[in-house]
Amino acid sequence: MPELPDVEAFRRYFDATSLHQEIDTVQVNVPRVLYGITASDLRNRLVGDQFQSSGRVGKYLFGELKKSWMVFHFGMTGSFQYFSNAADEPDHTAVLIRFGNGYHLAYIDIRKFGLIALTESIDAFVRERNLGPDALSIREDAFVTLIQGKRGSVKSALMDQSLISGIGNIYSDEILFQAGIHPEKRVEALDETAIHHLFLTLEEVLEAAIEAGAETDKLPDTYLIPHRVKGGVCPRCGQPLHTITISGRTSYFCPQQQKE
Ligand SMILES: [Zn+2]
Repeated sequence: MPELPDVEAFRRYFDATSLHQEIDTVQVNVPRVLYGITASDLRNRLVGDQFQSSGRVGKYLFGELKKSWMVFHFGMTGSFQYFSNAADEPDHTAVLIRFGNGYHLAYIDIRKFGLIALTESIDAFVRERNLGPDALSIREDAFVTLIQGKRGSVKSALMDQSLISGIGNIYSDEILFQAGIHPEKRVEALDETAIHHLFLTLEEVLEAAIEAGAETDKLPDTYLIPHRVKGGVCPRCGQPLHTITISGRTSYFCPQQQKE
């Protein structure tokens, strides 16, 4: 499921392919991805306009139009593909944007949990969806305050999009593994030193993942993510990883280095 580093990779791809080109046509193959708008609303807003810039908050990507922003969320399996020949339209293209240069941007959504919307501003959308600050932009003092005001497991706190946005099941496991914190550790049991360490680790992991283009095989050798599979072993100590269900999601951790 795309998380902050994946969406940042999509944002860079969008910037490299889709800015400053007039939009000729918009084809909606899967209307259910549209949130609060119809296919004709989307066409009316996009055709003849251009994307000026992009933005990202957590797992949401925003493309700036003249008077509004197009919003993309990638659900479980969403992605982009930019291509020339119309015959190469990828399977599961939910929305297809054709530019004046003859190229196309496909928004692909295999499992149909993605979302496309329009909003007047990024701030308005963030308020409406009750999103917490972006995990990569949040300052340490704000992070400390948010974490100290929270109860429950540290894993649930990291995944709570209304607290901090962008981190999901996979990157919360990596952050806690690198920080040596058990995923069920209570946030109220973390002292200031532990929260400071968690914050630095969170930044380091997200930056490393973005640096790797969110490609798991390009992550550092000591990272957990490539080993998050049934029968996986810890890349640091070689012990079998344990799993546990938290907030309905399977969490992987090393019982040697992440003690309760
Ligand atoms: Zn280990």
